[in-house]
Amino acid sequence: MNNKSIIDRIVNSILDVLPKGKNFYPLHEPSFEGNEWKYLKECLDTGWVSSVGKYVDEFEKKLADFTGAKMAIAAVNGTSALQICLKIVGVTTGDEVLTNALTFVATSNAISYCGGIPHYVDSNEKTLGLCPISLRAYLKEIAELRNNECFNRKTGNRIKALVPMHVFGHPADIDPLLEVANEFSISAVEDAAESLGSYYKGKHTGTFGKISALSFNGNKTITTGGGGAILTNDSELGRLAKHLTTTAKVPHKWEFFHDMIGYNFRLPNICAALGCAQLEQLPGFIQKKRMLAEKYKNAFNDIPEVRFVTEPSFGKSNYWLNTLIFRKDFSHLRDDLLEKTNSMGIQTRPAWRLNSDLPMFQNCPKMALPVAEYLEKSVVNIPSSSNLIPSE
Ligand SMILES: *Cc1c(COP(=O)(O)O)cnc(C)c1O
Repeated sequence: MNNKSIIDRIVNSILDVLPKGKNFYPLHEPSFEGNEWKYLKECLDTGWVSSVGKYVDEFEKKLADFTGAKMAIAAVNGTSALQICLKIVGVTTGDEVLTNALTFVATSNAISYCGGIPHYVDSNEKTLGLCPISLRAYLKEIAELRNNECFNRKTGNRIKALVPMHVFGHPADIDPLLEVANEFSISAVEDAAESLGSYYKGKHTGTFGKISALSFNGNKTITTGGGGAILTNDSELGRLAKHLTTTAKVPHKWEFFHDMIGYNFRLPNICAALGCAQLEQLPGFIQKKRMLAEKYKNAFNDIPEVRFVTEPSFGKSNYWLNTLIFRKDFSHLRDDLLEKTNSMGIQTRPAWRLNSDLPMFQNCPKMALPVAEYLEKSVVNIPSSSNLIPSE
């Protein structure tokens, strides 16, 4: 088949799935069909819009209930949440932090804000997340333990943390990754920004590492406008996270006493109100997103040049962003598909550029990244909003 007819078949398959009669299909748009107006109006009517109010507590409680984490701490965005997670596990100036080369830049930025140095690890072709096998082989080669701390023999830096990111919402293969982290005395912090509503072996993503971060940016599965959260099963770490994100103020009736350099990273009450309304609809959003993925899967079944990414056998995915991957030998068609779909009002996007190739991170340590490099040039994300499945 010639290139044009391959692209045409892919586009027709996408059109088969999308509801008719719109002239623009965004990659991911939020849906506000619940109590959003009611809760927001209440914030405005009572004046509780900012750093104090009942919705922050309620949102944290509902998040903990939904994810099964012992504690959830709301934060101003996912990047800040991840920064605090890394600080809490002890990442400090000069420490290396192992993470995906194929991730949104926020992962690397959060590491940098703590003074850390991202150290890039290759992906697994099936899960799109970190590959535990190549990670272990690589650490055996470059890492050594001294006094139960891990050091990079090449750079001399301490390797303090491992940050697996659950790519496009698909759960990474967490158990073997945690085994590697344990073996090398490295703390695991999950970047679960994309995976609210995704599970690994029946347990919610973001509840495996010591502490982890979620995002509620406008393009994520639920949104608070901008926002994020920290999850942990360790109450002590959770209390520290709350303290650090709220200027480290020691509670008192009137005194302003702060006992650490804290951060103004709390989520405003008005954002939490939106979040409470969104969380009520989350099971419905996920159900629709999974139905949409099922439709795409069937639609692409007989197009051998692409693979539609489905959830791994060990997990359940929220299908945050549906993903097509051109098979080897067909990656050169990616830009034709991006060009054609976007010109028709079907918003599609390539994967992120590998963080290891961005100017500010290009000198950071990394292992060989053949899978990440293949994915970088072969992935196309396609419209994934829950509202592409009509409500009954
Ligand atoms: C969205 C996202 C973040 C950051 O979240 P913000 O709320 O936008 O700061 C971090 N990591 C990954 C992988 C993300 O997709």
